[in-house]
Order: sequence, then C-alpha cells, then structure tokens
Amino acid sequence: MKDPDAHANPPVDGGELIRFDKVTKRFGDNTVLDRLDFSVESGRHVTLIGPSGSGKTTILRLLMTLTRPDEGTIKVNGDYLTHEERGGKLVPAREKHVREVRKNIGMVFQHFNLFPNMSVLRNITEAPVTVLGMSKDEAEARARELLELVGLSDKADAYPTRLSGGQQQRVAIARALAMRPQVLLLDEVTSALDPELVAGVLDVLRDIARSTDITMLCVTHEMGFARDISDQVLMFDSGRVIESGSPDKMFGEPEHARTREFLSAVL
Ligand code: ADP
Repeated sequence: MKDPDAHANPPVDGGELIRFDKVTKRFGDNTVLDRLDFSVESGRHVTLIGPSGSGKTTILRLLMTLTRPDEGTIKVNGDYLTHEERGGKLVPAREKHVREVRKNIGMVFQHFNLFPNMSVLRNITEAPVTVLGMSKDEAEARARELLELVGLSDKADAYPTRLSGGQQQRVAIARALAMRPQVLLLDEVTSALDPELVAGVLDVLRDIARSTDITMLCVTHEMGFARDISDQVLMFDSGRVIESGSPDKMFGEPEHARTREFLSAVL
C-alpha cells in the first residue's frame, strides 16, 4: 500500500511552500492586509498570533481561495494560486488552475463543517474519491488509518450529530488529511469546543505535528499549544507581521511592546 503520509504532489525540497508577496486585502474601506510579505517553509509548523481583527483568518481564507487578494500574489509550492503566467504576463488564473494548486492545501475550521447526512467514513472518503479519483477501497483503507490516528476507529459508521464536538473536530482533521495536502491550515479549531474537549483535539494535532512531515499554519488562542508545536510564531497587528521568531523567543523574550502587551493579556 502507498505510504499514508505521501502527498499528492511532493513538496519542493526544504523550500518555501507558501509565499505571500505584497498581498493587500480590503473589505470596503477596511484594509485588512497591507502589502503583506511572508513565507512558510516546507515541513514547518507556524502559528499566527495577534489581536482579534488583525487579519489572521483572512490569511487562511486567502489560501483556501474563499476570498481573493486585491493586490499582490500568493504562491503555493512554487505555483501562483490565483494567477497564471500567460504570454509572459501574470493574469488572473482560470478556476481549473486554482483548483489544482489548492489541492495542496487542507483546512480545518472552527465549526467542523462535516456533512451531517454522511457517515464519518463517508465524510472522509468523499473528496478523495470524487476530487482525487481514488478508488473507494483505497479511500476507505486510508480513512480507517486516519480514524486510528485521531483515536476514532470505532466511529466509522456513526453520523456526525451523534458525536461530541471534540470527536467531530477530530473527524474534520482526518477528512482534511485524507486529501494528502502539503499544508494543513487550522483556524481556531478548539474555540467552539467545550473546555473539557479541547485537550483531546490538541493532543491529536500534536501527534500529527510529530509523526508526519505536513506543514502546519495555525491560528490559535491556545498559547500553550502554540508554544508546543510551533517552529515559528508570527505576531500580527493591523495586517502586518510585527515580530516573528521561535516560540521560546516570542513567549519568553518578545521584543516588540505590542507583542508583550498582547501576550500579557492572553497568557
Ligand atoms: P483575525 O482572524 O485576526 O481575528 P480576521 O482576518 O477574521 O481577523 O478579520 C480581519 C478584519 O477583516 C476584521 O476587521 C473583520 O471584520 C474584517 N473582515 C473579515 N472578513 C470579512 C468579510 N467577509 N467582510 C467584511 N469584513 C471582513
């Protein structure tokens, strides 16, 4: 059988997996991201922190093409996400191109977003079968491996409404991984959970961070978790990265007054 952690498209070795180049995003008069430059290297676990409204979720939504940049470009594994080079010029990309590049990216949302009318197993196999063209048998075998990884082997035939929020979120993680993305985007994945269910989800994510080579880009208010799993922490304020560094530096000796102020409010 195939290596369960193999990706659809192998990453460019050790290189940049994500690059934002002068990305501006406005909602009406509100400039949420202002010529933002940042990059994430393949295999790294990067956490975005910063006050509410500073543009963190917008970055993840841009990567999922749930919203588009007003200016600037985004590259994923060396390919432009929403642009294509045609006749030596950079032009808005056709949907087919966008879909192809986006296959590299998986996302887990705050509110799970499972298909309520499908069993857990089918939630996980649906996209690999319909989007990647995987055989049903292969998709099911892979789904069962992933259910084991997230500690839900016994829930394959259950329906989402019968599961706790924490279990639903673990299914959502398995579903995202089933597409073999190179990068997993995690948007406040524990903030809709009852407090007693948070640790189980974070443990699964810690395990995935340790045991796979997947790149992770997380937005979280769980600073203990951010400290544990991150290689790099980026502090956002008003749509810009104002400070970045290792978790030890960012949580132990932040340089920027804004970072210190933010951390003292949330820690
Ligand atoms: P964060 O994740 O850091 O809390 P967001 O990226 O969610 O920040 O939001 C940044 C800003 O963009 C906020 O001011 C928010 O109100 C605004 N915003 C986000 N999405 C939309 C939208 N679809 N329409 C209008 N404004 C939006």
